[in-house]
Amino acid sequence: MTGFLTSTVTTMTQRLILASNNAGKLKEFAQLLGPIGLDLHPQGEFDVPEAEEPFGTFVENALAKARHASRLTGLPALADDSGVCVNALGGAPGVYSARYAGEPKSDANNSRKLVADLSTLSDKSAYYYCVLVYVRHPEDPQPIIADGRWNGEIIATPRGENGFGYDPYFLIPSLGKTTAELAPDEKNALSHRGQALRALVEKLKNT
Ligand code: IMP
Repeated sequence: MTGFLTSTVTTMTQRLILASNNAGKLKEFAQLLGPIGLDLHPQGEFDVPEAEEPFGTFVENALAKARHASRLTGLPALADDSGVCVNALGGAPGVYSARYAGEPKSDANNSRKLVADLSTLSDKSAYYYCVLVYVRHPEDPQPIIADGRWNGEIIATPRGENGFGYDPYFLIPSLGKTTAELAPDEKNALSHRGQALRALVEKLKNT
């Protein structure tokens, strides 16, 4: 019986390329996608180089990354794009979050620039945003798209050691903690990425 079950599960598993080499994302995504029969592999395993992200919207960049990974591997692909959007700055840094202070990419410089840009503005409200795009093949006319948003505010003095990017400066007022003060599981349960991933899983289950 066990052998029957094992071979049935093996037959139903679909390989899926993650258009990222970020080990943290791979682990987080694989935990939710494995149980629905998706076997996630980072694009680096297939020597796929990083795609360009030339667009002004998260969804266009995620779609470009997913198509690129699918085209080079011949497999379905999943890509994400995310960033922090500050209301008083018209949504900046947005898609430019990773390079807000220029090249080379630096989380510390990006955060310092954001705090400086906000220093004379009273509205510090902001949100993290994440979009996920799944394509069955590079020309898929109906990509599956899911997104998530996490509201907070930018503070001037960093707090917490966890996370990455803007986390030490991103306060969740209802928790009284920055996202760098949350344990990884707590962050995943609430975050923009966690929300988008759970929404994507629901959509995949329905297709
Ligand atoms: P990417 O989606 O991995 O390309 O992330 C884009 C950038 O947005 C990151 O380099 C961070 O600067 C910022 N970002 C996205 N999600 C988070 C988060 O959960 N915490 C902190 N910064 C984030």
